[in-house]
Amino acid sequence: MSAGGNGGGSTGRTAAAPGGTAAAGTAATPDIDDFTRPWWDAAAEGRLLVRRCAACGRAHHYPREFCPHCWSEDVAWEQASGRAALYTWSVVHRNDLPPFGARTPYTAAVVDLAEGPRMMTEIVECAEADLRIGMELEVAFREEDGGVVVPVFRPAPDVSRRARPSGA
Ligand SMILES: [Zn+2]
Repeated sequence: MSAGGNGGGSTGRTAAAPGGTAAAGTAATPDIDDFTRPWWDAAAEGRLLVRRCAACGRAHHYPREFCPHCWSEDVAWEQASGRAALYTWSVVHRNDLPPFGARTPYTAAVVDLAEGPRMMTEIVECAEADLRIGMELEVAFREEDGGVVVPVFRPAPDVSRRARPSGA
């Protein structure tokens, strides 16, 4: 389904990138298999999942079939709060791998989820100068060219103005 010569534009917003290759196997769209599919399905619904171990109580990410802390296999999916703190980041100005090249600069980051696990992701809606270690973030979801939805993070709105996290 390569849209060559798309003149109509029935959907209002057309990305500038021609061709639209799915770019499987990049950091943005890692392999999806039967085990990780629930995680991706949840992301498509706007929910971030982590795995939590019933034996030791700790959560982990990326999803594994056993607990990386105690090796128990008694682990299950759990919906994360979507809140995180910025641990470290790197603003990428050049990346030859599609689709990243068209996107530079972007902010690759590692965040600490409120549930504990550390997660590689991307920071959006935040200027480089405004990035701070430990700044509060909230998850957002971005649909990639191939239709895969990936969680990214953006600065959390002023917490005092929110009575409770919206879990919808
Ligand atoms: Zn465990």
